[in-house]
Amino acid sequence: MTKLRLAIVGAGPAGIYAADILLKAERNFDVSIDLFDHLPAPYGLVRYGVAPDHPRIKGIINALRDVLDRGDIRLFGNVRYGTDITLDDLKQHYNAVIFATGAVRDADLNIPGIELEGSYGAAEFVSWFDGHPDFPRTWPLEAKQVAVIGNGNVALDVSRILAKHADDLLVTEIPDNVYGGLKESPVTDVHVFGRRGPTSVKFTPLELRELGELRDVDIMVYDEDFDYDDAARAAVAGNKQVFVIDKVLNQWRQREVGEASRRLHLHFFAKPIEIVDDGAGRVGGIRYERTVPDGEGGVVGTGEMRELPIQAVYRAVGYFGSPLPGIPFDKKRGVIPNREGQVLRKDPSSGSGGANEQMYGVYATGWIKRGPVGLIGHTKSDAMETVRHLINDSGNWWHPEHPAEESVTELLDSRGIHYTDLNGWHNLDQHELSLGESAGRTRIKVVPRDEMVTVSRSK
Ligand SMILES: Cc1cc2nc3c(=O)[nH]c(=O)nc-3n(C[C@H](O)[C@H](O)[C@H](O)COP(=O)(O)OP(=O)(O)OC[C@H]3O[C@@H](n4cnc5c(N)ncnc54)[C@H](O)[C@@H]3O)c2cc1C
Repeated sequence: MTKLRLAIVGAGPAGIYAADILLKAERNFDVSIDLFDHLPAPYGLVRYGVAPDHPRIKGIINALRDVLDRGDIRLFGNVRYGTDITLDDLKQHYNAVIFATGAVRDADLNIPGIELEGSYGAAEFVSWFDGHPDFPRTWPLEAKQVAVIGNGNVALDVSRILAKHADDLLVTEIPDNVYGGLKESPVTDVHVFGRRGPTSVKFTPLELRELGELRDVDIMVYDEDFDYDDAARAAVAGNKQVFVIDKVLNQWRQREVGEASRRLHLHFFAKPIEIVDDGAGRVGGIRYERTVPDGEGGVVGTGEMRELPIQAVYRAVGYFGSPLPGIPFDKKRGVIPNREGQVLRKDPSSGSGGANEQMYGVYATGWIKRGPVGLIGHTKSDAMETVRHLINDSGNWWHPEHPAEESVTELLDSRGIHYTDLNGWHNLDQHELSLGESAGRTRIKVVPRDEMVTVSRSK
């Protein structure tokens, strides 16, 4: 074997890091990589998940772009694996494939009323405010009182964007329609619910602290949530992150409140039980149960029920992966079953209980490999592990009938697929920057898919 022709599906950080690591790895063969994404622009959740008012994290795009710009990776945007290109196609053109398709939809929360009108998933809202082309352009921001369920960073992103005054987002790259929608929002109160206590939250200190800096927003914390047990006190003493979170929250307990036009309430030991119907099939309230520590790091319900009026609810209880045609899928965890990135399937000869065997030539990395937890940086170590196996498995790679690089473009052209490439991304990037410049902003994102494709393919 003198050359590895590799397809990577998913141009988010996991896919791009995998390409980078492979190109830099010690190996005794040449590599040629094609990177596919169903979106016309690369970078996955860094472009379409990370909040627009987090420019430092958005800036990771610059490092990812440097990888693509090196010139030895071909990008095919606007190509969806499963419809535009299939596993059989990949086997005919490549020696192996790495799936890095991430996780884009909301995990379920099974409580009564969650299906009412006015109940949303955080992922949908994030996709709207980050200008994802496949989501509606308008968002119903009519509620004065809103609940956000969850105690992770995504819950804080959603709460912050809901509570923040739209004008304070103008410095960011938010699309015009998002600015317009948020500007009209009548919201006064955002209530964040976590069923555990302040020392068990999943958000990070930086994200928490940021809430306290929002202009004209009072942060409301409640003394009853700070009656710590031994386990909570030990967590504060033994974990630096918990220590800082506790300190920030306690500073807020001392702050004067009452002046701001909007409030962001943090309710701990509060387990949502039901979304209450307003009588017309819409969200009218949230019923939650007060919990107490169970002495083992968890919580138990006390039976004390409370209710707050709300007109919208967002569940931020985690993201979930989606199955890919022809590829095994773990329905419970929302990931591709794998052993350190080597994709596993049931051995068809071993009956219904079948042992897992390696699916040769197929690898996974990033959130679709490990589940939707962890920061962008974690996808790098993921990719290292996966790439190490890919290199070591060279004896089991596929033997493609059409390994020539042109055969892939011919295939896509023959199917009439309007793919975008790296030059196309440069065109779109420049276009967005110049839209921003003429409006006195750094960037204005193009949202409609056809417009993204037209701009990308325009030169
Ligand atoms: C709301 C939110 C905020 C976050 N904020 C931060 C933060 O501030 N800091 C931080 O470090 N991390 C943050 N993260 C986490 C970070 O985004 C992830 O760790 C990272 O994006 C996971 O990378 P990935 O490449 O596995 O998946 P993704 O980034 O989701 O990329 C997957 C790519 O695969 C493509 N794809 C999917 N299906 C197909 C298909 N069938 N065919 C072709 N292409 C396909 C998608 O279009 C996408 O481009 C945040 C996550 C979310 C959800």
